[in-house]
Amino acid sequence: MKYDVCVIGGGASGLTSAIKAAERGLSVCVIDKRDVPGKKILSTGNGRCNISNVDQDVRHYHSEDQAALKEILSKVSFDEVIEFFEELGIKCRSREGYLYPLSNQAQSVEKALWLKAKELGVRFELGEEVISVKERDIFNIRTDKSNYQAENIIIATGTAAGYSDKEKAGESVLNSLNIHVKEFKPALTYIASDARICKYWAGVRAAGKLELLIDGERAGREYGELMLTENGISGIAAFQLSHLVSKNTNTGKKLTLKMDFVPDLSREDLKSFIKRMAKETKRGCEGLYGILYNKLADSLFIEFVKNEPSMAGRIAHRVRLTDLSEEQIDKLVYLLKHFTVKVSGTGDASSSQVLMGGVPLSDIDRRTMMLKKHIGIYLTGEVLDVNGDCGGYNLTWAWITGMIAGGSVGGRNDKNNRA
Ligand SMILES: Cc1cc2nc3c(=O)[nH]c(=O)nc-3n(C[C@H](O)[C@H](O)[C@H](O)COP(=O)(O)OP(=O)(O)OC[C@H]3O[C@@H](n4cnc5c(N)ncnc54)[C@H](O)[C@@H]3O)c2cc1C
Repeated sequence: MKYDVCVIGGGASGLTSAIKAAERGLSVCVIDKRDVPGKKILSTGNGRCNISNVDQDVRHYHSEDQAALKEILSKVSFDEVIEFFEELGIKCRSREGYLYPLSNQAQSVEKALWLKAKELGVRFELGEEVISVKERDIFNIRTDKSNYQAENIIIATGTAAGYSDKEKAGESVLNSLNIHVKEFKPALTYIASDARICKYWAGVRAAGKLELLIDGERAGREYGELMLTENGISGIAAFQLSHLVSKNTNTGKKLTLKMDFVPDLSREDLKSFIKRMAKETKRGCEGLYGILYNKLADSLFIEFVKNEPSMAGRIAHRVRLTDLSEEQIDKLVYLLKHFTVKVSGTGDASSSQVLMGGVPLSDIDRRTMMLKKHIGIYLTGEVLDVNGDCGGYNLTWAWITGMIAGGSVGGRNDKNNRA
């Protein structure tokens, strides 16, 4: 059978585009290599699916082509995204601006998309991997099991983020059509460091301020919960900075991460707290347990003693706060509020929520999501060179691009579809 539209990849953006195209009366087929469409949606938002965010400032999205990005985002408003979900039967609630389904279950989002597509007559070919696409008069789509034909294709294959390292997503599809792709790199993942402290602080969760420095210049700053691991620094604050690390790793630039582990106390307040502990107790690093997770206090105190030339040879656990001079207390305060580690890179694709890189927006018609130089080929979602912050932005990009592509895909001779 020949379809008007074949959607390659039935994830967040692919299902959205299929629904929108089918609503326009087009015959649509979705091919996905997994046995359930929208499988990645199930793991989003820790199983709750952070659908979107009320703060839709463009600074939450990153691309080499910010002008194109801005224009595409302006095509579908936040209200239209919410309306789309209302029509699917999904009501959202906001938690400090982060939108989740009222059911609090990602599965309800995945199911609603799938059911709606089926109600509209979309045909699903599941458990089939598209290997290549060839174009003669129409598109011939070859999977590992069968062949399909379509007037138009929507490539919505996403990326390997969150999957095993063997995941190839849509690479062979893109290659078979000679579509230019910028290298995919991890984003929204942990920031890696080889610093010796990592093996001591592993397992600690702490609130903190992070500052990423590239060649000594501040490139980004975040505040939030940090998860300290033996590989480096994880947690949302680190995730938000990881795309900057990815971009600058292996470029010869020096990347460092500065951490304030006591963001709620000013330097003066922290100093007077330590001085009081020194005066009133016989404690060493235990004197910091009231303001820092004890394992973190121990790790930082060990670093402090190791780095302090006047304490050479001393064992950290035998040093008491009362032994510290005024100058040494100043140094300890500085270390707790400006602890710096060298950054060695990021987590890999499997530990990322999203990958940066992909098909450049400059190759895409911003009105339709069709490739400028290739009539009938549309792209949506993460396969495009856009990555969003944590907080519902990557799914929002998937919904918006799916809505645009599904709303504009048409007969191949439709002049309106030409760039
Ligand atoms: C753990 C985790 C949590 C996340 N949480 C959130 C969140 O809460 N909020 C948020 O905004 N974003 C979140 N994201 C990111 C978000 O899930 C993705 O950005 C989004 O799903 C991308 O949509 P997509 O349609 O481009 O790709 P996907 O949803 O990944 O869909 C692509 C589909 O294509 C299929 N496919 C790939 N190649 C082929 C092929 N050759 N043949 C056939 N099928 C193929 C895949 O099987 C897949 O189903 C999270 C990601 C992860 C990994």
